[in-house]
This record gives sequence, structure tokens and C-alpha cells, in this order.
Amino acid sequence: MKEILQNIKEKAITSINETTNLNDLNDIRVAYLGKKGELTAILKGMKDLSQEERPVVGQIVNEVREIIEEALESKKVKLSKELRESQLQNETIDVTLPAKKVEIGHRHPMNIVLEDIKRIFIGMGYEIVEGPEVEKDYYNFEALNIPANHPAKDEQDTFYINGEYLLRTQTSPVQIREMEKKTPPIRVLAPGRVFRSDEVDATHSPVFHQIEGLVIDKNITMADLKGALAVFAKELYGEKTRVKFRPHHFPFTEPSAEVDVSCVMCEGKGCRMCKGTGWIEILGCGMVHPKVLEMCGIDPNEYSGFAFGMGLERITLLRYEIEDMRLLFENDVRFLKQF
Ligand SMILES: [Zn+2]
Repeated sequence: MKEILQNIKEKAITSINETTNLNDLNDIRVAYLGKKGELTAILKGMKDLSQEERPVVGQIVNEVREIIEEALESKKVKLSKELRESQLQNETIDVTLPAKKVEIGHRHPMNIVLEDIKRIFIGMGYEIVEGPEVEKDYYNFEALNIPANHPAKDEQDTFYINGEYLLRTQTSPVQIREMEKKTPPIRVLAPGRVFRSDEVDATHSPVFHQIEGLVIDKNITMADLKGALAVFAKELYGEKTRVKFRPHHFPFTEPSAEVDVSCVMCEGKGCRMCKGTGWIEILGCGMVHPKVLEMCGIDPNEYSGFAFGMGLERITLLRYEIEDMRLLFENDVRFLKQF
């Protein structure tokens, strides 16, 4: 029995010494000390020994076990250290190599223009507000004085989620939500994404952006509307800019107007950009329809107000003299770098 144990010990120590990696070392542990290991087998066989032999053999088994365990442990420490050192060696960073260049982008032209527009209106005391893009049919049409059979609803054909919800065709529903929520005076600017089932071409996209403004207070007149928009146009396009109001029709305002500014390119002389007219249309506006005020719980005999809305894409195209709206959405870096 002593000899057998001696053999086991020597065999184990030899294989431990020859091992070069931690996985093999673990296999050796299992082979000798594991549940089905050689040394464990001898311990299990001790019940067949005589009373005198048992303690003697037991002692030797324990000694052999300790020796093997110590050998395993010290080899493990040695191998781990070697592994760490070789990893450190391989992963050394060469600080003299040239660094990867970090490309820092900049704002999209539409964002630049949007920031400018916000800044102008914040300067006039407007609050920036937002509303949901998935909107109730009621807020998008009905509350804006556009009943189910109104032709304006066809012009703004959109994407319906179901009978009740749709992708908003305009940012005007934000005005309704603000009027329901707040008591006048109200002075808000609502920029946001809107959707219509339009084919993509140089001037149309199924997704585009609107910016709407709304002012409700006592004694608000068309003069306030003209004043606010004239200031806005001069701030955006320059001090020399002139503004022209042309009568128009919108269901939610009365009276309504479209606003032209003198052409930024030719200052009104007529050029290719203004198609020879000297004027460029930039937005629609009007005095909030009394029916709309009523539907929002605001007394039209006490309060009045104005609203206006513009397309962010259109303003951006004009500002940078870009001819095709698709360029704004393609996000070609060569195009975006120009702004
Ligand atoms: Zn012009």
C-alpha cells in the first residue's frame, strides 16, 4: 500500500511539473483528488484494511494528499503569474503610433434655422411647447374647425393608425392642447414633425417640419400679428426685409393671410429664386377663429388671438438657396459640411 501511494505521489508531482497551462492543471487535480480520483479511490478502499493498518495508511494518504495539494497550488500561482506577464507583454500600447482622428460633426442646416427662429420668438416672450406626433383625429381636424367632410381634410391626407388616431398633418393641434391647458394670456411657439401621404419630390416629403405660433390675450388684433411677423422677418432675413400680407383662407383663422417677404436674393427686383416677382411666400397666418376659441373653452367675447405656421424645410431652403428638399433628408456628409 505504501508503494502504491508513493507511486501516485510521484506520478502526480511529475505531471504537475510538466503542465504548462491552468486547464491541464485542473485536470490533474480532478484525476487524483476528485470524486473519482486515484487518491480518493484508496480512501474509499480503507474499509477493507485491518484495524492496525487503517491509521497508518490513513496518515500516509493524508500526507500524500497535502503534498499534491501544495504542488498544485504553487504551480497554479506560478502559471497565473506567467499568464498575466505574457498578457501585459502582448497588450503593450505603443504611444508613439498616430491616434485615430475623431470626426466632430455639426448641426444640421434645419437645426441651425430652427434654433434661430426659436431665439427670435423667445426674445418676444414666446414659450416653446411640443405635442404628440400620433394625434387624435379630433385635435388634428375637428377642433381646428375642419369637420369630417371638409375639403381641407382631403388636402391633408395622412396616415391613420385607426379610426381615432393618426399621424398629425400639422402642428396646429398643439395650439388646441395649449388653449385647453392654459388660461390666457398664451404665447407659444410649437415646432415639430408632421406627416402627409405625399410622394417625395423636390418640394414634397411625407415627413416634414412645421413651426406654429399662437398668441391669445385681451385686445389682440391683426396689427399685433403684423407687428410680430414683421419683426420676425427682419430678424431672420435682415433689416431691409419688407413683408406683404395677402388675403387667404384657412378653416381655423378668420381673417386669414399668407405672408410674403421681399426676395433675399434680389431685394425685390425679381430673379430666378423669386420667379421674377420680387416676393417669396414664407408662412400662413390669421386671427384665431372664434369657433376654435369656443371649442377650447375660451370666451371669444373676452379674448382674441392670432396664429401663424411655417414650414421649416421651406425657410431653410430659402435661407441657404438650396433647390431640392431631398438634400435635407439624405444626410450626405458632403452636403451637410457646407453649412
Ligand atoms: Zn428675387
